[in-house]
Amino acid sequence: MIELREVSRIFTVGGQEVRAMDRISLTIEPGEYLSIMGPSGSGKSTLLNTLGLLDTPDSGSYFLEGKDVTSLDDNQLAATRSRTIGFIFQFFHLIPRLTAQQNIELPLLLAGVARRERNERSTRLIEAFGLGTRQHHKPDELSGGQRQRVAIARAVINEPAVLLADEPTGNLDRHSGGEIIELMEDLNRKGLTLVVVTHDPEIGERAQRRIRVVDGRIASDTQRA
Ligand code: ADP
Ligand code: MG
Repeated sequence: MIELREVSRIFTVGGQEVRAMDRISLTIEPGEYLSIMGPSGSGKSTLLNTLGLLDTPDSGSYFLEGKDVTSLDDNQLAATRSRTIGFIFQFFHLIPRLTAQQNIELPLLLAGVARRERNERSTRLIEAFGLGTRQHHKPDELSGGQRQRVAIARAVINEPAVLLADEPTGNLDRHSGGEIIELMEDLNRKGLTLVVVTHDPEIGERAQRRIRVVDGRIASDTQRA
């Protein structure tokens, strides 16, 4: 499904080289649930952005569904991303002037899906995610947990194979954070590959497979017994 081979990403800041990813090799099978933990600045987001085709390696190769994606141009990357990957962020990244439902439908609108089908598919997710009474509200009229549910709905409306979440509970209280994790785990049980970056050990330990990143390298990769 996902295979990184010796992938590096180097940033130059004030003449200093920072190895955000230092020859990382990683294979993820379809349907896996894994967490990525590690100190701040260790390269977790860079790794997730690379997996999500939001960032491009400086060296090494990335095979996604068997295809080398390191040589794709921007249009091909965007197309592959929208077909294969859902991404959620700590700060939701919703569009403030759009309602919950319009935010959720945005990927379908961009993909040219007709209005009726957009409406059917977003309505199904709104119900499934318990957002039924909030569909016409704008993000600033929603709680953090509701915003993240909208963001997850938007991320999965194209039925991606993989959901990548960068600190998805980092801006939520404990209770809403728990609900968000359960929602993502539910999607994983239905077959979605799930990768969660977190600094919360309790959340990290829920995953079957836990990866620890230190200084741009994978320091450990363990499966739950
Ligand atoms: P984490 O998510 O684990 O906190 P990041 O992947 O965001 O770590 O960052 C890893 C390292 O790469 C850090 O030293 C960070 O400062 C650096 N870095 C990340 N993105 C950039 C960027 N766009 N430009 C310069 N340096 C960056
Ligand atoms: Mg980060």
